[in-house]
Amino acid sequence: MRDDSPNSWEARADAHSFYGFTDLPSVRDRGAVVLTHGQGPYVFDVHGRQYLDANSGLWNMVAGFDHPGLAEAAKAQYDRFPGYHAFFGRMSDQTVMLSEKLIEVSPFERGKVFYTNSGSEANDTMVKMLWFLSGSEGKPERRKILTRKNGYHGVTAVAASMTGKPYNSVFGLPLDGFIHLTCPHYWREGHEGESEAEFTASMARELEEVIAREGADTIAGFFAEPVMGAGGVIPPSEGYFQAIQPILKKHGIPLIADEVICGFGRCGEVWGSTAYDFVPDAIISSKNLTAGYFPMGAVILGPELTDKLQDASDAIEEFPHGFTASGHPVGCAVALKAIDIILNEGLMENVRTLTPKFEAGLQRLLDHPNIGEARGKGLMGAVEAVRDKATKTPFEGHLSVSERIANTCTDHGLICRPLGQAVVLCPAFVMTEPQMDEMFEKLELALRQVFAEVA
Ligand SMILES: *Cc1c(COP(=O)(O)O)cnc(C)c1O
Repeated sequence: MRDDSPNSWEARADAHSFYGFTDLPSVRDRGAVVLTHGQGPYVFDVHGRQYLDANSGLWNMVAGFDHPGLAEAAKAQYDRFPGYHAFFGRMSDQTVMLSEKLIEVSPFERGKVFYTNSGSEANDTMVKMLWFLSGSEGKPERRKILTRKNGYHGVTAVAASMTGKPYNSVFGLPLDGFIHLTCPHYWREGHEGESEAEFTASMARELEEVIAREGADTIAGFFAEPVMGAGGVIPPSEGYFQAIQPILKKHGIPLIADEVICGFGRCGEVWGSTAYDFVPDAIISSKNLTAGYFPMGAVILGPELTDKLQDASDAIEEFPHGFTASGHPVGCAVALKAIDIILNEGLMENVRTLTPKFEAGLQRLLDHPNIGEARGKGLMGAVEAVRDKATKTPFEGHLSVSERIANTCTDHGLICRPLGQAVVLCPAFVMTEPQMDEMFEKLELALRQVFAEVA
């Protein structure tokens, strides 16, 4: 499989690049896939092999890999003003315009935006904002952060503490005061005989209990992805946000929507929170924000948090936080173009058009005896592999079933991602119907092959 000559790309990748979030036995066996370029939703490796990337890179390359408008917007801005910060009361005109645009397309009637380089930093920034408010309002003990198991919020020390995944224990995380509630995944977490409505009510009850146990005045905020992404594409149970938001409101706890994946069209609406019919107190955005063409994140504050943070900052004459590249002019120019492309050039429209076909494709996979659940929202979906469908028993961990499926897909020219025992699909918004057929055909082929090996 892998080219083992000393100067091969695979050997060179191994020699000097430290792999993150990579199954090392797989890469040792198969070699890294070293890519040279892309076209629409396809990427090409150094051996000239073509892959349909069913994950849009890492959820983010929604306009495909060769969108001329985005490259032009970046080039034009590099020629005009290639870099600047947003400190000391200075910022680029592009930054001003992007903030206006983000508030215009936000669910808020007014608000303010703070820029970062990534989704993790945006979550860290939001937590620091909440901690800053607590101190400033004379409630320094109000610091705890509530999230959910399987929620993914990033990798910096705070964002990793928010993330509800067991792998962070290798870093001695989470930090104190980060509390993970039950994942609202009815199929996996619901009890025998429990209806979905009862399950949702139990999620609300748990939240009430945690708030009572910890004390409402020790809790700074609740963060949730509208649909959990890296946790395995897990839509909330029916009525979940309608059940929890009133509880949070009653206790004065802000609800922050981590829209890093859902935001800008993934669920068929600009925001995942809109798709689930709630308005959060702030939004965390990244990934699609620049269609993956520039690293950038943003905290978008609703009116109440804007006013409170403005007052807190006025009191000490500054908000002492920011990154060197916050509000980078090229990133902002690219984001303005990406938003325009998604909203006005038919990308989000295409998500809506393709969604029924996507859902039907996922449902068809459920016919397979070793697929236990097919789930999703808009153009994000997953199928969950199981040893036994009736009891929902997973395959034995040592079989690495989802890794095998992903590797077999790669052999067939399809890139998709294993997550736990699930395989995730989140195609680019520019995908065509024939490309979607190709995606499902290749995945189906790989599933049949792997299940024949392990079942
Ligand atoms: C990817 C992701 C993040 C982290 O973003 P990075 O840019 O990788 O730091 C945060 N939240 C969610 C929901 C994500 O999917």
